[in-house]
Amino acid sequence: MSKVGEKTTAMPAPEIMPGGGIDPDLVKQDFPVLRQSINGHPLIYLDNAATTQKPVAVIKRLQTYYESDNANVHRGLHTLAERATDAFEATRDKIRSFINAGKREEIIYTRGATEAINLVAYTYGRQNVGPGDRIVITRMEHHANLIPWLELARQNKAELVYIPINSEGYLDLSEIDTIINNRTKIVALTHMSNVLGTINDVEEITALAHKKKAVCLIDGAQAVPHMPVDVQSLGADFYVFSAHKMLGPTGLGVLYGREELLQAMPPFNFGGEMISEVRFDKVTWNVLPWKFEAGTPAIAEAVAFAPALDYLENLGMENIRRHEIELTAYALSRLSELKHLTIYGPQNPEHRGGAIAFSDDKIHPHDMATFLDTQGIAVRAGHHCAQPLTRLLGVNSTTRASFYIYNNTNDIDTLHEALLAARRYFGHG
Ligand code: PMP
Repeated sequence: MSKVGEKTTAMPAPEIMPGGGIDPDLVKQDFPVLRQSINGHPLIYLDNAATTQKPVAVIKRLQTYYESDNANVHRGLHTLAERATDAFEATRDKIRSFINAGKREEIIYTRGATEAINLVAYTYGRQNVGPGDRIVITRMEHHANLIPWLELARQNKAELVYIPINSEGYLDLSEIDTIINNRTKIVALTHMSNVLGTINDVEEITALAHKKKAVCLIDGAQAVPHMPVDVQSLGADFYVFSAHKMLGPTGLGVLYGREELLQAMPPFNFGGEMISEVRFDKVTWNVLPWKFEAGTPAIAEAVAFAPALDYLENLGMENIRRHEIELTAYALSRLSELKHLTIYGPQNPEHRGGAIAFSDDKIHPHDMATFLDTQGIAVRAGHHCAQPLTRLLGVNSTTRASFYIYNNTNDIDTLHEALLAARRYFGHG
């Protein structure tokens, strides 16, 4: 698997089993961090919605980049600068093809999904949303796709209106024609919820937004790592995600934007790289994509994101999605055997991803996560950066187990046993 950049159209990757399933045990061997024990137990990493682990190919590329290619990009005329620039820009091409954007100019590097959303709110938002206009988001947004819009609405005296969710964890679209009205300028929603796991029907919402001449931003932080995404067929005007949630380094994210929108938007940050010509009294902007990339970017991170994309492509995003549906179905069935648990989000694994939030009727999520850590199991507990949604669920926090390509059904069995052990430990057995 560590053969970076090698396309396996003729020969499937060894991790793909006959029939298309992923062999998570083989995948695991490519992830050094997973080969350790935590508190005397083999590590079971179930915090993938927060960040994923990195395969050897990504770790090695970071090292070889610093050992042999390191230089600043775009401005040097020496060999190292050329190598760094070529590798940095080559990843942009890979990203373009990974999400099927039309042009490389539509792929903007950012620090993460959060910065990408802020970029759109500060530039497109400030330019196009005025007093009395409407911004529409949903009640299942991560803070990253809520606070920038709350702030924009407050500053520009616009309305922020939420698409509600029903008791099963799906968007309630019964009033959507009045929610997305003629004053709506921006509709922003998550492709996959990081708490409920719900996969939203993005195509339907982009079509509704376009009917009212609004643009649609999709937060794909939880979707791009887990399923095939085609930004053009989704009808997305903007689509954002983070490299670290899909095997890549931290500190790097992507904003996809339709070229004509990006062209018309003012820059976000000002400084080096984003200019064409500067005089003491005036400045012209660089062309896309660099107009939005002021300063020295995350070069090593972008370079080392390429083997992460290769890794996912070698496995095949359809295979990854299928693997996660199987794991999610298994997890939902094993966890629902535990009657003291409330499990949030859709029950149908075809309609959701493998981020499963739950709560125990007696044990606080923080105590539960700490106990699971004593068993070598890493999960997340808290509001998962979605406080309003968590409150809507009637709790202050939940425990969340989230899966990826290196997880198997044994991990879920071990989680199941540990959840029962927690009941005994805390005196509720
Ligand atoms: N949106 C969603 C749905 C997320 O799950 C996250 C990360 N938890 C983000 C946005 C923000 O991503 P980042 O912190 O990498 O900017």
